[in-house]
Amino acid sequence: MSTRVGVLGGGQLARMLALAGYPLGLEFVFLCPVRDACAAPLGEHLCADFEDEAALRHLAAKVDRVTYEFESVPAGAVAYLDDKVPVYPPPQALATARDRLHEKSLFNELGIETAPFMAVDGLADLQRAVAKIGLPAILKTRTLGYDGKGQQRLHDAADLNAAWEGIHGAAAILEGFVPFEREVSIIAVRSLSGELAFYPLSENHHQAGILQLSTSLPDDPMQGLAEDYAQRLLEHLDYVGVLAIEFFQLGGRLLVNEMAPRVHNSGHWTIEGAETSQFENHLRAILGLPLGITALVGRPGMVNLIGGLPDIDAILRLPGAHLHLYGKTPRPGRKLGHVTVCTDDGGESLQRLLALTAGQGDETA
Ligand code: AMP
Repeated sequence: MSTRVGVLGGGQLARMLALAGYPLGLEFVFLCPVRDACAAPLGEHLCADFEDEAALRHLAAKVDRVTYEFESVPAGAVAYLDDKVPVYPPPQALATARDRLHEKSLFNELGIETAPFMAVDGLADLQRAVAKIGLPAILKTRTLGYDGKGQQRLHDAADLNAAWEGIHGAAAILEGFVPFEREVSIIAVRSLSGELAFYPLSENHHQAGILQLSTSLPDDPMQGLAEDYAQRLLEHLDYVGVLAIEFFQLGGRLLVNEMAPRVHNSGHWTIEGAETSQFENHLRAILGLPLGITALVGRPGMVNLIGGLPDIDAILRLPGAHLHLYGKTPRPGRKLGHVTVCTDDGGESLQRLLALTAGQGDETA
């Protein structure tokens, strides 16, 4: 009988995990409450709430391993499953990553630099934090924030009340604003046997808080430091699977913004732009298989298709363009697909791709 992997979530990350798993002979079961989940056509879809005990029991009975595609998966569901079937990445890593205060405290404990931050549980805390950290600064909810959601920027003292109201009294942190030169991320992977692998850094460009473009260059000067930080985290957390870490680069320093205990949008270029994709290596890692080579293939650049679709024929006519559509209905701010080019032509194909997709991000809500 073939090995079955259970995935909590049925979005595009789950879909791309399944696409990477089929050549390895794997089968997939997705637990996702969304009826038309975009991963559903690629496996068995248990359409139920994440906390539905009957569905969780059913999932645990069907699969050999469980993984997840997003951090805000309910902790109770993960704990319930972990009792019955191995869940990777380990629930402890998930618990740390879902709370900005916990994750940033851990980074600092491990000697990994971050922007200055303080916990904020009320307006008085916010005033104290601003007095200590200074302005500009960013107020972020501790949990459930992603793609810039749950964030308020503070420029002067008059912004404090509105910022506090803007996060609706949620537990938060105040973080100093980093005048970064670049945003980069590393996709790192650790297998059940402790084998480690790191992908070449991704350089990331966001628009309205959403990732728009990732490129990767060989010999990035920050590669060594990023790998060192990633290794400290992977080993401390006894991690299994892919871990993505996002950094701000400031001079020769890397300040960690956050980590994601899962496959990550800034690693989508690895599907065609690396010997082994992040999705395949995540599956290899959680199944205790040897990891695949992470070396670059060409000069990858990946552009997200957000909110609406460009002229698909024109994209497909672009030599070397790899189109991925997730089968989702267009909606403002929604990630509908991505396109990767790996051609080593001095960036010409990437420029043509950017011209063809220009304006897509304008529709973000
Ligand atoms: P996040 O939700 O923490 O990933 O933040 C979304 C985006 O907001 C980041 O990719 C940055 O572009 C920006 N950002 C977040 N935190 C900071 C910061 N402390 N300083 C400057 N920019 C930030």
